[in-house]
Amino acid sequence: MARFRAETSVCKYRHDRTQPVVSAAFAHRTRATVLNAIRRGAKRRQATGLRPRSIVPPLLPSVSIFPLVPLLSPPQAVLEIAAALERGGYEAWCVGGAIRDALLGHPDLDWDLATSARPGEVRELFGHRRTIPVGIEFGTVGVLDARGRMHEVTTFRRDVRTDGRHAEVEFGVSLESDLARRDFTINAIAYSPKLDEIRDPFGGQLDLERRVVRAVGDPIARMREDRLRALRAIRFAARFNFAIEPATHRAIEESAPMLDRLSRERIKQELDKTLEQVQRPSAALATWRAVGAFKALIPVLDSVPVESLAVVDCLGMPGLAGRPARRTIRFAGLLATLTASQAADVLTGLRASKHEIQLVSTLLDRWHRVGTEIASTLESGEAPNDATNRRWVATIGRLHIGPFMRLADGWWSAARAAGAVVPEPRAVRSLHRRLLASALRDPIDLGSLAIDGDDLRRAGIPPGPGLGRILQGLLVAVIDDPTRNVTDWLLHEAKRLAAAEAGTSGSSGGRA
Ligand code: ATP
Ligand code: MG
Repeated sequence: MARFRAETSVCKYRHDRTQPVVSAAFAHRTRATVLNAIRRGAKRRQATGLRPRSIVPPLLPSVSIFPLVPLLSPPQAVLEIAAALERGGYEAWCVGGAIRDALLGHPDLDWDLATSARPGEVRELFGHRRTIPVGIEFGTVGVLDARGRMHEVTTFRRDVRTDGRHAEVEFGVSLESDLARRDFTINAIAYSPKLDEIRDPFGGQLDLERRVVRAVGDPIARMREDRLRALRAIRFAARFNFAIEPATHRAIEESAPMLDRLSRERIKQELDKTLEQVQRPSAALATWRAVGAFKALIPVLDSVPVESLAVVDCLGMPGLAGRPARRTIRFAGLLATLTASQAADVLTGLRASKHEIQLVSTLLDRWHRVGTEIASTLESGEAPNDATNRRWVATIGRLHIGPFMRLADGWWSAARAAGAVVPEPRAVRSLHRRLLASALRDPIDLGSLAIDGDDLRRAGIPPGPGLGRILQGLLVAVIDDPTRNVTDWLLHEAKRLAAAEAGTSGSSGGRA
């Protein structure tokens, strides 16, 4: 939904401008650029419901009465920061992911700027109150816009030393050198809002057209400089449904055994981005497996059947708005063939947050406890009775019904697509509603019993583990029939259970 809104607003913004089909201003641009611009125009007209103006021979630039439309449309705040840098006598270029995404017609939230200004000069120009030294040793200064949003401005730089994990950088280089240190051709395109000009020294636009992820320069050397690039290539290919160019692919395979030298945090961040940004992450995960990345990084996933990786595809995508719960449920889907404690170990090893580890392991514990029973009950075609419904809610936990059912639905959808017999979507939806209603209404945990441990002690039942078992027994009886959740019935039943406890411990004591 968020993605749809973002796209709509981009379309509206551009629709305000008069759209030339081919103008004289295009004369100096490359064939790929002209085609891109025409395609974007067609897309906009399609999105805004306008009919095409006319069929114009695409490669014959002619003098046009229409005003010039910029090739790309960075947000106003980015334009203002770029203009301020230019006024200060520095170059300012939009670079990286935003250019790639804009050329592909995707909205991008982060327009990064590269500049010839040194970090200190950027801070001086915008003032210390408007700037944050987010990564000053690498040349990155965060500049706040009028609404307090931060935009990254990075000094043109070149890597002078790398060890596969860290880099040492040098400033004072040209835009071309800065682009040359970037990982893939599609990420090494720059756009100047002032000149309305694209710089693309490595053929990134052509690779976007050909739908290829290709390393800038020698792939083996580039992967050796930073092993993370192997995982980034896999993510970009899956995200845009691109192929990985063969030499780059070979370099990724060669890099795989060395991936464990990367910090756990960077690996986790890469997996997070894969689960957040890629519609069908199984394509990336299958490549992780095929090239040996799981073997090096998460060995327990190396033997997971490729089909079960598709569970993640059937779970909602967090999208650009980044919904953390959705990413966590995708993690649960990725780890669903493991036990809860194996999953917790994987996430702990990746330095996941306590909250994420807890949620994933709880969901998997509940999934392994009742998932199969729920599936076989629904497959039988009969709706579960109310007592069974309450028992499931009690096992899953009131607050986990939503994520649990999303995980279950993803698992069953993937299994259905693979030809397995699983519960029908209608039955799943109906169960979800019934579980939620029960979670809101029914006494399914100790806290909702009409009596507590103090009441039992006052009734003469001694404290200790036996008392806990009696409370659990009362809960089971109430889940079975909620009309029993009244003080008289519960106290009477508690005494009966206590007598049985005493009998059991007495007889076991006798045997001892
Ligand atoms: P996304 O933000 O969707 O992951 P992105 O391309 O914007 O994609 P960032 O990590 O934000 O990626 O990096 C911004 C740019 O910095 C990239 O487009 C690329 O040009 C460059 N870059 C990032 N990481 C690397 C790297 N490991 N090696 C070389 N260049 C990199
Ligand atoms: Mg980015």
